[in-house]
Amino acid sequence: MIVAGPCSAETPQQVIDTATHLHEMGIGVLRAGLWKPRTHPGSFEGVGTQGLSWLGEAKRATGMLIATEVALPTHVKACIQAGVDVLWIGARTTANPFAVQAIAEALKGNEHITVMVKNPISPDIELWIGALQRIYNAGITHIAAVHRGFVSISDSLYRNAPMWQMPIELKRRFPKLPLLIDPSHITGKSDMVAVVAQQALDMGFDGLMIEVHPCPEKALSDNQQQLTIAAMAALVGNLTTRNNNAESEQLSIMRRLIDQCDDEILTTISRRMHVVRQIGELKQKAGMQVVQQGRFNEILAQRKAQAQSLQLHETFVESLMKLIHEEAVTQQITKI
Ligand code: PEP
Ligand code: MN
Repeated sequence: MIVAGPCSAETPQQVIDTATHLHEMGIGVLRAGLWKPRTHPGSFEGVGTQGLSWLGEAKRATGMLIATEVALPTHVKACIQAGVDVLWIGARTTANPFAVQAIAEALKGNEHITVMVKNPISPDIELWIGALQRIYNAGITHIAAVHRGFVSISDSLYRNAPMWQMPIELKRRFPKLPLLIDPSHITGKSDMVAVVAQQALDMGFDGLMIEVHPCPEKALSDNQQQLTIAAMAALVGNLTTRNNNAESEQLSIMRRLIDQCDDEILTTISRRMHVVRQIGELKQKAGMQVVQQGRFNEILAQRKAQAQSLQLHETFVESLMKLIHEEAVTQQITKI
């Protein structure tokens, strides 16, 4: 299943153009945000209710199902009245049980609607499951979960780093719950979207939600991550569906977990080097030498002592710490 379309509906023309191209690619569900939960006030906050008729027009013209984000009961009511087929609850809203409950109440009696629940912005699987349960308890049975990554405090390759173990655990607990990936919000960069989309399919995800805009650089929201129509066509054309062989599926899941660990290792080393450079400046001001042998011996001894309990060889830990120290010294000398 592929859900695609602009981050935000901007004009009637933009919606219908995007829908027409996506429909030609065989995509069945058009997404477009009307009420945008923006971090800062004053950013483009969506066209609101007027966009419902633009989506309705795209639905009539193409036969696609239409999808938008709801955050308030008033949004839900307006969408139901306008014939929106699929609603999604955004990451910021999933994080708030009061808001999800209010949405669930507004949904009661509308069993035909499909509701997709994005993961909350923080990596709390119970909060995600709780939101899914609130929607289910309102009588909605067409439900899907969307993994859109998690906010992290450190620099990362991603805008919202994926934590693959989280959706994998959700799938393990609820095998019949369709699980989609949103590589647009995970990567935050259009050139990384296709890779993450394919990784997720390899892991057994059931579908994709992807942001597509006829002219991404002019988009009023998320302009770095939206795909052009041509890039979306290429992505769809190059996707390979997963191999149903259980062993190879398991292998590719494990490999994604390894990739995630490697991302974390490099990100952490990069953060360490940031501190190292700050220390370098302090040493320079204090007229101290860059290499402080006593301090390094202390670090080595401390980390080697941890090796066994971490199931690592002492010699490996020693070599790794020496390598990291070497880079640290180079960074303090060259001030990269
Ligand atoms: C969106 O899909 O445009 C959106 C705002 O998503 P999220 O809730 O994942 O940030
Ligand atoms: Mn967006």
